[in-house]
Amino acid sequence: YSGKTGNQLLGEHLRKLSVKEYKSVPVVCQEETSVYDAICTMFLEDVGTLFVVREGGILTGVVSRKDLLKSSMGTRDLSSIPVGVIMTRMPNIVSCELDESLLEAASKLIRNQVDALPVVKDAESGDGVEVVGRITKTTITKAFVELGGGEAV
Ligand code: ADP
Repeated sequence: YSGKTGNQLLGEHLRKLSVKEYKSVPVVCQEETSVYDAICTMFLEDVGTLFVVREGGILTGVVSRKDLLKSSMGTRDLSSIPVGVIMTRMPNIVSCELDESLLEAASKLIRNQVDALPVVKDAESGDGVEVVGRITKTTITKAFVELGGGEAV
């Protein structure tokens, strides 16, 4: 008998879950994408956060549902506003890496009060980071259900 409590064992198990294993496909747009088109992409792709990239998939920003709602208030022509002027911009983006634990990513979501984190790796050009995935509150909820032996849809 190892003498470990149930909680210690659960904690050890939890810390082994990695971002790499659980990440989903990132949904991206460009800074030039209009607020109108960004809203369409959110509906079509069924996501709540878009990552904004430039050539090579280099991360430049993040745009959330509320960013789009806010910019929609008092503006008639949503197709004339580019996402680049309303997004949260680098270096103020909280992200995670492939070999990070899912637990660490979950605490970043909570600490920073955001719904999604881009999964990034250093760009081959050495200039910026490339978006390779997405971790959201749904990712964490799925992992939680799975750990409980429930059905992850
Ligand atoms: P919503 O605004 O739809 O509730 P969030 O809570 O995720 O969605 O976003 C809150 C604010 O934080 C938005 O202005 C958004 O641009 C920004 N944001 C979202 N994700 C991140 C992130 N990973 N890093 C930094 N800022 C983020």
